[in-house]
Amino acid sequence: MRPYTLLCPDCGQRMEDHYTLSCPAGCNALIRTVYLKRTLDLRNEPGIFRFADWLPVEGTIPSPAGPVTYRSEGLARDLGMKNLWIGFSGYWPERNAEIATCSFKELEALPTVVRMKETGRGTLVIASAGNTGRAFCQTAAVTGIPVVVVVPSAAAERLWTTRETEKVCLVTVDGDYSDAIAAANDLCTHAGLVPEGGAKNVARRDGMGTVMLDAAVTIGRIPDHYVQAVGSGTGGIAAWEAAMRLIGDGRFGGALPRLHLAQNAPFVPMVRAWRAGRREILPETDMRDARSAIATVYADVLTNRNPPYGVGGGVFDALTATDGAMYAVENRDARDAEKRFVEAEAIDLDPAAAVAVAALIQAVETGAIDPHATVLLNITGGGYERAAEDHDQIVVRPAFHVAAGTGAGEIAADVLSWVKRHA
Ligand SMILES: *Cc1c(COP(=O)(O)O)cnc(C)c1O
Ligand SMILES: [Zn+2]
Repeated sequence: MRPYTLLCPDCGQRMEDHYTLSCPAGCNALIRTVYLKRTLDLRNEPGIFRFADWLPVEGTIPSPAGPVTYRSEGLARDLGMKNLWIGFSGYWPERNAEIATCSFKELEALPTVVRMKETGRGTLVIASAGNTGRAFCQTAAVTGIPVVVVVPSAAAERLWTTRETEKVCLVTVDGDYSDAIAAANDLCTHAGLVPEGGAKNVARRDGMGTVMLDAAVTIGRIPDHYVQAVGSGTGGIAAWEAAMRLIGDGRFGGALPRLHLAQNAPFVPMVRAWRAGRREILPETDMRDARSAIATVYADVLTNRNPPYGVGGGVFDALTATDGAMYAVENRDARDAEKRFVEAEAIDLDPAAAVAVAALIQAVETGAIDPHATVLLNITGGGYERAAEDHDQIVVRPAFHVAAGTGAGEIAADVLSWVKRHA
């Protein structure tokens, strides 16, 4: 028996894991893991698998990539904060941060690949705007487990690995992230090609949740506030779920952290829906002129048009349960915040992480966060310049291309035969 079961938060059904992505009763809710171990024991592993007790896996991968938490001095001083902790998910070996692809997507990819190997069958298909794809490419390179990655053509240059690999089938698609998702869905109608699952994949959420776990064991308690930039909001949901587990453990306090989640204006559908008190995102009001809005934001990894916002156990529920707040951050404020962060902390940032820093500045200025409170700022990506000094970054060559308006049907046979050759 596996060391956890899955639970549907809507109907309460418990189930075994067969790489299950949704409730068999058809509930519109995110199924969760329930670990048999209620207390968290840290394993003697180099990276994320230190937290394997609360990851949906039995085996591990010996990767140094994992969450890192440290107490801020520079930014804390700049903002007049007394208890600012930074969760750094990127590359910064001087602080033991060893995520070579420089974003917390690698924390999602590692347990996902193990979970698939142990509970599923087939080859994972991942649609991505960049960071997720790069993380899965790297994981394929490290483990030798093949993946199919589907990205918008313009994002292809962001896909590199630190080792040469033949285990990635890269498909480029004319269009934006939504077009890549549509092509990936087309491919997954074929037997043997399996959707990775996104927010529905408990390995992704619990992998991201290790940022909260690492913070709690480093600080000694659950923080009062959690700040993150979101596109899908999955990281916010994951932080909430991890905090509930920590409360169940009993050693880290009994209060949930307040979630402060930020999007990059002008593309801010969840901010609009949340501020209007709605569980639904209304495309007409909340995502008007989506294509042009997406084209202008600084941090395009934050532009998901279909976030798990209203679904049971999703972002709306996470914000409600934690008395949370949402922030809209303008490009210029993100750039200013980035400058302040780089000066204060001496490491470069992913644009999305700059949006989170700007939200923290807003929250402190408006009084939403007390400067004495214990705050976890999730720096979801960074250290790109530092990583380029230490590692090769070998660009992954596209294997197949989907031209505008053609769909993935025409390349499906080629992808399937690639999978046969590389499985
Ligand atoms: C994907 C990503 C985010 C947004 O994460 P979600 O929680 O899935 O919305 C933030 N920052 C970086 C660097 C990312 O790659
Ligand atoms: Zn259900």
